[in-house]
Amino acid sequence: MNNGSPEVLILGAGPGALAIAAALSNEGTSIAVLASKDHREPWPYTYGIWGEEVDELGLGHLLEHRWQNTVSYFGKGSKDPKDISNDLTRHGLDYGLFDKVKLQRHWLKECEMGGVTWHKGIAKELQIDNTQSTVIATDGREFKARIIIDATGYKPVFLKSNNNEPPVAVQTCYGIVGQFNKPPLEKGQFVLMDYRCDHLTQEERKEPPTFLYAMDMGGGSYFLEETSLGLFPPLSEDTLRARLQKRLQSRGLILTKMEHEEIGLYLPMNMPLPNLDQPILGFGGAAAMVHPASGYMVGGMLRRAPLLAKALSSKMKEKTASPAELAEVGWSTLWPRELRRKQALYQFGLEKLMRFDEPLLRSFFISFFGLKKEDWYGFLTNTLNVQDLVKAMWKMFVKADWDVKLGLMIMHGRELKLLWRFIKPVRGTTNR
Ligand SMILES: Cc1cc2nc3c(=O)[nH]c(=O)nc-3n(C[C@H](O)[C@H](O)[C@H](O)COP(=O)(O)OP(=O)(O)OC[C@H]3O[C@@H](n4cnc5c(N)ncnc54)[C@H](O)[C@@H]3O)c2cc1C
Repeated sequence: MNNGSPEVLILGAGPGALAIAAALSNEGTSIAVLASKDHREPWPYTYGIWGEEVDELGLGHLLEHRWQNTVSYFGKGSKDPKDISNDLTRHGLDYGLFDKVKLQRHWLKECEMGGVTWHKGIAKELQIDNTQSTVIATDGREFKARIIIDATGYKPVFLKSNNNEPPVAVQTCYGIVGQFNKPPLEKGQFVLMDYRCDHLTQEERKEPPTFLYAMDMGGGSYFLEETSLGLFPPLSEDTLRARLQKRLQSRGLILTKMEHEEIGLYLPMNMPLPNLDQPILGFGGAAAMVHPASGYMVGGMLRRAPLLAKALSSKMKEKTASPAELAEVGWSTLWPRELRRKQALYQFGLEKLMRFDEPLLRSFFISFFGLKKEDWYGFLTNTLNVQDLVKAMWKMFVKADWDVKLGLMIMHGRELKLLWRFIKPVRGTTNR
């Protein structure tokens, strides 16, 4: 198209939109971005990532914090409520938090070099024919391009996904950043999951389990977040707040200065795959790229954006390629069969964990983090190939207690269907 329109129109200005805009800029593709917020506006969340993962991407300099002392508390794996000992699982791997301004600037700089055009507005309507795609904004402006990439987050404006999927499990959290009468953690410590539950009554322990995600932010400040791994219907913020208060009380911790309260944290974990036959593309939360086991996405977006950008820009050299043909190449790069098979396994795993009670969960995690580092790290970062992922899951099964083994073997609800998708992965609504 040489009518002055860009080749690609990206919708959104979150991490997903900027990651793919930057990668396409690096390929020399002409791009416009239409977003409801200014592209320089700071994002609401802070993004965590494993140190090794960010180093492999060559982006360690974008971290604001980095912890070497990374631990979890799962107890000894017994059902005894007193098994809350201070038994630590040491992860032996750094964990970091991105400096979100630096990460945003990193992508914006690449976009600037590629000459991205920015528009502020809300996409409302989509029209696609054999030669071009048109997005109409709420104010009536029309934006044309050869292909649209919808990166408008978990409730995408245009992307369609499988419409007969069960409800999406949601991770919910309630967090505070503040100072306390005494240190809630060791100095320089990061706690991925603190499943100690001695502060709960027997009755409360039968309710859906929650854990503490916590870190020493330096300067006397600590970030403590009560988290529900993933549930439908989601655990309410009130429950999480009350759980956190109880946890603090039982440890004699008093908040002396509240610096920040993290509320409304709502993270869909098992988004259905987008329909891979549609003539537009997606990226980020919109395209179900969130890891169903961890809820993380930034590392995956950084790895997958250059692959999509390369495939798309190469196909765009065919000047007559239609939006549908461009999208087909994009989807098969973003969601190849191997990734869809792995996604089915991850979703199966999440489905299982959602049914586990707290002792079973703790026992599960003891075995999981007892795997070799490359296995659990590869599982959590989605960097194992499908054979190695299956091997890691099998090793975990062999290591696990009988209770966990039984929990993994007895099928409930849609678990069998998810396992079947590992053999025959879906392509979206068509279920091919
Ligand atoms: C609470 C929380 C914590 C998370 N923590 C981590 C973490 O630690 N590590 C990690 O890797 N991942 C994490 N994630 C997952 C993931 O990285 C984030 O959700 C990330 O923000 C997803 O980026 P996105 O660009 O796809 O969507 P969003 O960040 O939601 O961005 C969507 C964009 O689309 C725009 N938009 C929406 N509708 C329209 C429209 N109609 N027209 C134009 N623009 C529109 C919005 O203004 C916004 O710019 C977390 C997610 C949540 C919710």
